[in-house]
Amino acid sequence: MSSRRDFLQKITLSTAVLPFIRWKEPTKEESVTNKVSDDKVLRVAIMGLGSYGNIVARAMQSCKRAKITGVISGTPSKIKDWQSRYNIPDKNCYNYENFDAIKDNPDIDAVYVITPNALHRDQVIRVAKAGKHAICEKPMALNAKEGQQMIDACKKANVKLLVGYRMHFEPKTLEVIRMRKDGELGKIMFFDGLSGFVIGDPTQWRLNKQLAGGGSMMDIGIYSINGARYMVGEEPIWVTAQETKTNKEKFKEGVDETIQFQLGFPSGAVASCLSSYNIRYLDRFFLSGDKGFAELSPANGYGPIRGRTNKGELTQPHVTHQTLQMDEMAAIIFDGKQPVVPVDGEEGLKDLKIIDAIYEAVKKGKRIDLKL
Ligand code: NAD
Repeated sequence: MSSRRDFLQKITLSTAVLPFIRWKEPTKEESVTNKVSDDKVLRVAIMGLGSYGNIVARAMQSCKRAKITGVISGTPSKIKDWQSRYNIPDKNCYNYENFDAIKDNPDIDAVYVITPNALHRDQVIRVAKAGKHAICEKPMALNAKEGQQMIDACKKANVKLLVGYRMHFEPKTLEVIRMRKDGELGKIMFFDGLSGFVIGDPTQWRLNKQLAGGGSMMDIGIYSINGARYMVGEEPIWVTAQETKTNKEKFKEGVDETIQFQLGFPSGAVASCLSSYNIRYLDRFFLSGDKGFAELSPANGYGPIRGRTNKGELTQPHVTHQTLQMDEMAAIIFDGKQPVVPVDGEEGLKDLKIIDAIYEAVKKGKRIDLKL
């Protein structure tokens, strides 16, 4: 199992995730883990040491307020490797069977769940029951019903539930949101979101309905769903959607290859979006108002994000997304900081409700009303 997972991890890294990777090794100064900070440091155990787990871990080396103190993995060789890389003691290492014991571990404040989508619900609920804060990768779960169960479990356990929406902290994205809020773009009329890439290995979990919960929509289309909401600044009230499948062998029943979808907002603004596992170069947001426009392209990759508006190029500096995200999440958890765009379970749930409605709209061939 472990060698198959290692293989899948390599394949995934070289296909699905590659379009997003612009990893720059931290400088010597950045890679000093225990940076001095007057603020309380969030001590995090990473669950799922796959391709994205590795990206998060490397980025956390430059965090001021977050630090890796534990790991949860089914592969002993990966645990060994991470222990030496991140200086993690044996007592902070767990597997998927025994990680409930994390409840007695005072070195861990939060667990970051970075496993295949279908595992998120049960793993987050177990983390909550262990009394630790849960950070969960997108999509938060397979559907809204599961998402609600996670929110309820975290509420009951009095722990925070946050979703890994790294774009909510990205400086150019935040500048567009500021311009829209300050009225610089005028009345928002239209959003266009393109999210997609050509996925590789047909045996990877992303193309397995049981583990992924769907296809491109769960993995990459969610960026356009989430982006439509924070770019327009409203919650959609209806959705229509159409699916195209050109390869039924690779994209089996329940695994969407390409879906176009449209969202309607209370103000009358509309969004037109595309989600695909079989179209290249889809990473663009465009927002049009009656006084101006904003374009981000790439809009969701690991960066640098590029953007321009009717006023010119966006020049906010690139900061490694996951470094920013984890420092900000520490402030949310410990200081009750309110991010410009929420990253809590309710935010994840809204996207899941929209995904449910998109799949329903495809199936029924009609417009589905939304109540978020
Ligand atoms: P991956 O396949 O590279 O890693 C998944 C990890 O989960 C592996 O270490 C694997 O061993 C482990 N795992 C545990 N139980 C497993 C099981 N039953 N089957 C298969 N693997 C199992 O995947 P990834 O790219 O790291 O994605 C993990 C999660 O992170 C997904 O939910 C994905 O959507 C999300 N993700 C988010 C971003 C982002 O930018 N926010 C980017 C990539 C992935």
